[in-house]
Amino acid sequence: MRAIAVPGSNSETTRRDNLSALLREVHLAGPRSRSDLVALTGLNRSTVGDLVAELAGQGLVREQRGDSLGAPGRPSPTVHADSDGALVLAVSIAVHWLTVATVGLGCVVVERVRRDWSGEPPSLDRVLGDIHEMSRSLLARPGVHERLVGVGVAAVGPVRSRDGYVHFAPNLGWTAVPMAERIADLLDLGVPVMVRNQSDLGARAEHLRGAGVGVDDLVYLYCDVGVGAGIVSGGRPLVGARGYAGEVGHMTVDPEGSPCGCGSRGCWETVVGERALLRNAGHDPDGGVHEVDAVLRSAETGEPTAVAAVEALARPLGIGMAGLVNLFDPRVVVLGGLFARLAPLLMPGVETELAQRVLSVDREPVRVIPSRLGEDAPLLGAAERAFEPLLADPLRGFARVATVRDGGAMANV
Ligand SMILES: [Zn+2]
Repeated sequence: MRAIAVPGSNSETTRRDNLSALLREVHLAGPRSRSDLVALTGLNRSTVGDLVAELAGQGLVREQRGDSLGAPGRPSPTVHADSDGALVLAVSIAVHWLTVATVGLGCVVVERVRRDWSGEPPSLDRVLGDIHEMSRSLLARPGVHERLVGVGVAAVGPVRSRDGYVHFAPNLGWTAVPMAERIADLLDLGVPVMVRNQSDLGARAEHLRGAGVGVDDLVYLYCDVGVGAGIVSGGRPLVGARGYAGEVGHMTVDPEGSPCGCGSRGCWETVVGERALLRNAGHDPDGGVHEVDAVLRSAETGEPTAVAAVEALARPLGIGMAGLVNLFDPRVVVLGGLFARLAPLLMPGVETELAQRVLSVDREPVRVIPSRLGEDAPLLGAAERAFEPLLADPLRGFARVATVRDGGAMANV
């Protein structure tokens, strides 16, 4: 539990922090008995009871009678985050598809819709139009709008953390998009809209709920069409001065290499990304998700060209990853997106490169593991980001903001 309260204090700040700590605990860790909450917070039993009652009064938690399991005395009630108590709208924009979902407390996906795009990458207007249409159907469900506390968006490309501005999305060809502002205008819901890079949000979700739970130093390496990293260092996201850290796909690995969507050439993603896989397999590099699925199906059956196409990514992936491991000293590298799907075939070659190139100063090698949340990681990370204001201040989380158009801070809390 992160915010340990000062027992006995009556200040509003302490009360808010206590409520925040209790709600965050049951949201992230699942149901907890009152006894557990007493032990975790150091607060006394009656204070915990009052705080739980306050959260229950807001509809954010519910209590169930505990099971004594043979222990003497009265069983301690179990406190659950109420997945219907507060909802966020989570949006995950990838190069080839879009997912929109309503997500309840506890990060329970209530309902989701997905749309795949084929052919050329979609225009910004097409994507915004689809977000609008798909969101409308989800928000029309009874009770959803009243309990909505935020919108979280996972976007392709570097996203300025201050205001959710996308300067440039190389693999979509978009430039200068005030994404948080555009989506806030479009949906007009009166709740904060938070936009972050898909890899940063994937790292957040894996750290909180997936393969990186309990690991405070990790690199999440995500391949959509391009490649990005979300870095958690000392338990905190490492995002840089403006939010652009982790654009590892644009590290130059061959100055004379293939042109990259960013305008440079020989970037890492040109040799380990989706287009490299398709090119290796003799497919159209811009063929998209259906071509990728075809290559993967062939590789799974052992078809030599497809297997070789995947394995050809392993060496440059391992070489770049070794550099990241030497830079950030993670305990774990989580492979996300396409890399997670390819992991069984990639791992032997990746491990060989890591063994050669990671500076070995102790006997504990970095672990490389596939994502546990799969393609949902950025979506769930977006949901977590959108829940953050409510988790930080559970009683004010339902306050509607007058406008989310005037100023990035409001649109991107
Ligand atoms: Zn590039």
